[in-house]
Amino acid sequence: MTTTVSTVAEQSAFDMALAQLARAAQELELDPDVHAVLREPMRELHVSLPVSMDDGRLKVFKGFRVQHNDARGPAKGGIRFHPDETIDTIRALACWMTWKCALADIPLGGGKGGVVCDPKRMSRGELERLSRAYIGAVHQILGPDLDIPAPDVYTDPQIMAWMMDEYCKLTGHYCPGVITGKPVAVGGSLGRGDATARGAIFTIREACKHLRIAPAGATVAIQGFGNAGSYAALLVERLLGCRVVGVSDSRGGVANMRGIDAAAAVQQKMDAGTVIGLPGCEQISNGDLLKMEADILIPAALEKVINESNAEQIKAKIVAEAANGPTTPEADAILRRKGVFMIPDFLCNAGGVIVSYFETVQNRQSFYWEEAEVHERLDRKITKSFHDVLGVSQQRGIDMRTAAYYVAVQRVTEAMRWRGWIK
Ligand code: NAD
Repeated sequence: MTTTVSTVAEQSAFDMALAQLARAAQELELDPDVHAVLREPMRELHVSLPVSMDDGRLKVFKGFRVQHNDARGPAKGGIRFHPDETIDTIRALACWMTWKCALADIPLGGGKGGVVCDPKRMSRGELERLSRAYIGAVHQILGPDLDIPAPDVYTDPQIMAWMMDEYCKLTGHYCPGVITGKPVAVGGSLGRGDATARGAIFTIREACKHLRIAPAGATVAIQGFGNAGSYAALLVERLLGCRVVGVSDSRGGVANMRGIDAAAAVQQKMDAGTVIGLPGCEQISNGDLLKMEADILIPAALEKVINESNAEQIKAKIVAEAANGPTTPEADAILRRKGVFMIPDFLCNAGGVIVSYFETVQNRQSFYWEEAEVHERLDRKITKSFHDVLGVSQQRGIDMRTAAYYVAVQRVTEAMRWRGWIK
């Protein structure tokens, strides 16, 4: 069976981010001058990265770092290594980080970085040299008081450790707080590994309470089986007692309506590099996975996978966006009409940045917390964010995404006003 993920090529992720902002601006009756400021990233750095490859050739990679808005604190956002990376996607992701940090009420702004490369075809040595070259090229605009990167698609704690090390060499002092998502041995936080998924599960728990859906036994389909998706599978089972019925990765998916053992799927992914082949399951495509009969759908891979071509066929009652930007505005409108309860990306997946913020705090204090404390503080923060959004959604009779924008844009605007950036 072939793997297909429907994507909408015409509309870029940044177009999507601007369309979402415009909808919120209308609802908020946002001053046009403020809207104009928020539409533009405040800083962008484009770099070329010459890297020695194992075969002796020199290959030049393209990299970016975008800082969208730092009114509430230093920019914060992951670094992606992906062959299809574009400046446009990075811009969108930087905007979403501004909203995410504001909604989570953490004192950080929005940033994002990326390198156009195919890490699956690179050796460990090549990845290390690329990671160090990236930091060499962008380090002037990074720092605990400027901009703090983190892992994202196809970057991991090892890459964060190399990047932190390179920054320390370049600046001449130990500075673990320059980057988060590090291994615990070099200043990482306990609980960062599964934080994005854990946060998403807490928001699903609150959505189930609100919708009066009993989570125990509720069925769940998950697209993407990396950091966010695989931990989501394990935790939705362990913390809420749900039944995972479908999982997928870039090569395709597997389904079993009687239930998939999440731990066995993780093992299969580790052994075979894909969930395909998991015993007792039917093989399905990524497209099929999105349309499965499941109460809860968790897109946890890439952008724009739920779009006009498939939104009508989504059967889930709750869509919990662990990925960034998985739903296009057109699909969003269809899902709203169908009455699907959306947990928008920058609320649903905020667990990662919340625990990244905890990591920064621990680095600054040089004092490290126990894992239970991290989990408990994460639960409190993200549950509060969920209810801030739900409250606005109910008071104003607006959808959850627009309500999330409402809260976040208001907080960023307030900070810009106090700082005298706008009238
Ligand atoms: P990852 O690199 O760990 O995993 C990505 C997964 O997506 C892999 O399983 C891969 O096989 C799968 N995938 C790639 N292309 C796919 C395709 N076309 N169809 C289906 N699956 C595909 O990445 P991650 O960190 O889990 O990130 C996934 C999403 O979650 C991204 O949108 C990311 O921005 C978002 N996110 C991640 C974090 C985090 O802390 N890791 C935080 C917030 C948001």
